[in-house]
Amino acid sequence: AEAKQVVTRIAPSPTGFMHIGTARTALFNWLYARGRGGKFLLRIEDTDRERSTPEATDAILAGMRWLGLDWDGDAVSQFERVERHAEVAHTLLENGGAYKCFSTQEEIAAFRDAARAEGKSTLFRSPWRDADSATFPDAPYVVRIKAPREGETVIDDQVQGKVTFKNAELDDMIMLRSDGTPTYMLAVVVDDVDMGVTHVIRGDDHLANAARQSLIYAAMGWELPVYAHIPLILGPDGKKLSKRHGATGVEEYQKMGYPAAGMRNYLARLGWSHGDDEFFTDAQALEWFDLDGINKSAARFDFKKLENLCG
Ligand code: GLU
Repeated sequence: AEAKQVVTRIAPSPTGFMHIGTARTALFNWLYARGRGGKFLLRIEDTDRERSTPEATDAILAGMRWLGLDWDGDAVSQFERVERHAEVAHTLLENGGAYKCFSTQEEIAAFRDAARAEGKSTLFRSPWRDADSATFPDAPYVVRIKAPREGETVIDDQVQGKVTFKNAELDDMIMLRSDGTPTYMLAVVVDDVDMGVTHVIRGDDHLANAARQSLIYAAMGWELPVYAHIPLILGPDGKKLSKRHGATGVEEYQKMGYPAAGMRNYLARLGWSHGDDEFFTDAQALEWFDLDGINKSAARFDFKKLENLCG
């Protein structure tokens, strides 16, 4: 049988400048797809209306273009898909994979206080999980997933290996807020499925999210994508890469006159190894890039090396 076409994506939130870490994640996704005759998609995760700005979206598009990371089709706006996200939440309400929770913020806080006082887990356990709809009040509600409480959820990750989460530690996460808007957890899953994404390559700060998101796939009967959670980029001192280490914005490098090809070369090697080759052509990177070569430990950003490579 013919293997399924590879579809990857980059899904940045347009809340600031384009970070070098986003560029590297985009590059890995682009290399993986393009090296296999697959598709590479761009989704702007702009559902957070307070923090998302058109300037940030423009900076992402410009950064991607500068780096030569062409995407297939139009950039997808997550916000434009909120009705579809809500539709899936309602399907889950109908098939029993989710429930309406009428607990108020005060009730949840009281639950947590009581649990804390008793030395118990403060994970909220909604009294509405198995409630009879005849008892539903005429009040606002959120839609929560009915997460399993026993057993384990295992994410078979291409970089991290098999990672096990105890279901007792997973909460019934909210998918639709009381104003009817979707949470990131729901939106990302629905969009990835609808866009046909086969491989989710992203920062390992999303690893625990993968376990929770996998519950939505299971409840909808959807096939899980292949996951590859890559370690974040650290600064030269081993701490999370930030502005105080130096330039961390793609645009800054562009403005300083760094060549995009050198940048691509450097970013490709950041957390991905292929023998001792320091320099390679785009054609070689496309041929060689594989998830197996992604390092399990976090890469340190080396400003000198980047400069040498681009000089
Ligand atoms: N929008 C998320 C972020 O910027 C990415 C989500 C994902 O890749 O699944 O961190």
